[in-house]
Amino acid sequence: METMDEILEKIKVENPELFSQVEKVVPFHGFLSSGALIGIHMLNIAKRILDVKEGERIYTLSETYNCIPDPFQILEGSTTGNKRLRVHDTGKMAVTVNKQAPSGIASIKGVRIYLDPEKTKNYPKLHAWYMNTKKLRHEEVVPVLLEAGENVYSYEMVDIDVPVKKKKTIKLCQKCNESFIQRNNEVLCDACNDSQTETTI
Ligand SMILES: [Zn+2]
Repeated sequence: METMDEILEKIKVENPELFSQVEKVVPFHGFLSSGALIGIHMLNIAKRILDVKEGERIYTLSETYNCIPDPFQILEGSTTGNKRLRVHDTGKMAVTVNKQAPSGIASIKGVRIYLDPEKTKNYPKLHAWYMNTKKLRHEEVVPVLLEAGENVYSYEMVDIDVPVKKKKTIKLCQKCNESFIQRNNEVLCDACNDSQTETTI
């Protein structure tokens, strides 16, 4: 089995473009995990399909907290803090990406990309890792992902509703006196509301 350093060196020689992405993701994520490489692949597929130009903003919805969100954060600045990254944890290795909608538009086309088990079947080691039927190290899975490239993903175009910006109302919670963003007409913050429900059950 190759070491991760040997794998990285190989990427540097064989695919400099991918390496320029990998070398930013590694310090951010901690190492080149299989999921982080999958995230890079998904990002590249999304940018190509949506024809994302340099400097153009993208919005990302990741269906897992595992690894995949990180390439989108470090390579595209699609972060949780700027609200261009959301995670809706369905436990799936999938992301939906769209470009910024022009103002006044209610819906925009996006692309949903997923690691397709029908396709990973062609790569038994990768498939075993994906289905978690065998414990495999990243050093075993990453080379297979590199070999497979974009052949193990599928995608579909989806319509995405553009959220309407609402006026922000700030209230003081009637229990803890801390300020919170009021969504409906609630008088307690979520934290106090949750603890109240807990005690009344
Ligand atoms: Zn409160």
